[in-house]
Amino acid sequence: MKFSELGLTKDLLTAIEKHGYVEATPIQEKTIPLTMAGKDVIGQAQTGTGKTAAFGLPILEMIDSENKDVQALVVSPTRELAIQTQEELFKLGRDKHVRVQAVFGGSDIRRQINGLKHGAQIVVGTPGRLIDHIRRGTINLSHVKTLVLDEADEMLNMGFLEDIESILKAVPDERQTLLFSATMPAAIKRIGVQFMTDPEHIQIAAKELTTDLVDQYYVRVRDFEKFDVLTRILDVQQPKLAIMFGRTKRRVDELTRGLELRGFNAAGIHGDLTQQKRTQVLKQFKHGEIQILVATDVAARGLDVSGVDYVYNFDIPQDSESYVHRIGRTGRAGAHGNSVTFVSNSEMDYLKDIEKLTKKRMQPLKPYTREEALAGRMNVAADSVADIVKSTAGVADSEQVDKLVEQYDAQELAAALLGAVANVEQMDADFKLSHERPLPHKHGNFRGGRRGGGRRGGGYRGNRGQRERRSYDRGSRNGSGDRSQRGRSGSSRRQSRNFVIKNND
Ligand code: ADP
Ligand code: MG
Repeated sequence: MKFSELGLTKDLLTAIEKHGYVEATPIQEKTIPLTMAGKDVIGQAQTGTGKTAAFGLPILEMIDSENKDVQALVVSPTRELAIQTQEELFKLGRDKHVRVQAVFGGSDIRRQINGLKHGAQIVVGTPGRLIDHIRRGTINLSHVKTLVLDEADEMLNMGFLEDIESILKAVPDERQTLLFSATMPAAIKRIGVQFMTDPEHIQIAAKELTTDLVDQYYVRVRDFEKFDVLTRILDVQQPKLAIMFGRTKRRVDELTRGLELRGFNAAGIHGDLTQQKRTQVLKQFKHGEIQILVATDVAARGLDVSGVDYVYNFDIPQDSESYVHRIGRTGRAGAHGNSVTFVSNSEMDYLKDIEKLTKKRMQPLKPYTREEALAGRMNVAADSVADIVKSTAGVADSEQVDKLVEQYDAQELAAALLGAVANVEQMDADFKLSHERPLPHKHGNFRGGRRGGGRRGGGYRGNRGQRERRSYDRGSRNGSGDRSQRGRSGSSRRQSRNFVIKNND
């Protein structure tokens, strides 16, 4: 369906066109008319289906740009998502002169206060920082007409419920509430509905869950050879832009270091880095200055970077839904993508569960030999040599060149150049990752420290909330204090240690 059929006005239609959107996505088509009609809406559709514009366009439509009050508030679970949403809304609302301010922790609060003072009609923020502004009295939410809880499942999973309840106290009861999410487990819906008035639930079936556009492979490995298998795969596959997932922060740091050591252009992001660093890394990745982004699930959630051709699950995710989110980072916007999931023998049940959810079989990938990896490296080196030859003018008639030509034949010189460019020693650079225990056996009696039988039978993602919440607290302490340490986090931290496996972002 065309956007012009959805009752949007001219300024927005021009912006949409400039943005390159031709047709509305299904979630946009179904929810925009309802939202424009003032209804409360639960919008559920898989990652990457344009949920931001689905709530953003009707909001922009309703905004009075002459009026300086905050008229819409979007609550986002992470800083990255808040920034991304702010950018998208800003672009779409530019012709209408709508001001959109993002507020999140780990960045200068004074600048945000200034932005708010200048009259932002839409505010996009993370719960912690929003509460900060509410307490300081630097944000006035009493004229908010529309409230959006974006990525609601993740937000509630992260234990932001209390925060959201406090934010709700600062916005009028008479308001429109929108809840957007990739998944909608019953418990989340139950909670969400309490904030809403007679909501319409629009669910777009995830028919191409994990998309048919992603070729999915798995590789069986033993722990001690995992890293070597990985770098050979990278040498052969030569991804242009790849996202790699590690289970823990330590893992992300170590993987990044190891990859650099073996000559790959990699950088890591996770919750312990300062906001500034995370933003910088993401920017470099989006511009292709970094080729491999190593991340934890939380740090990479919802990130929208086009052109990612490979996703590597160096550690298989503990729950199948995370897998879907992970590989949703590739195969976007009609492009073709690939994923490779590493799995140990004892983790095969996790793989089977993923396949059950995606209804798609992963193809086995045989680890590559060193020769195959070398050939891959040489191929790339040969291309670089071609570039070097093209760009090296003006030294051809030097004395040293003559000398070399006398001394060696062309074969030798080419080999030396290729070898230097390929940097073959790097391939074998010694590197050992710290041991991470594989995930506990999934089926049967052995449950390790897992609480209450895991995800099945209603215990959905049982311990995730506290686990991730924990890392959040830690992450923001590095920034300039997103959230004050609230009372309950201490107890959940202690408690969580008993059953957290080690998926702690
Ligand atoms: P979600 O929130 O559902 O994960 P996003 O809102 O982040 O998805 O959108 C994913 C990508 O799709 C973004 O790059 C966005 O600009 C793009 N997009 C959104 N709507 C459309 C559309 N109608 N046509 C083409 N691209 C779109
Ligand atoms: Mg989104």
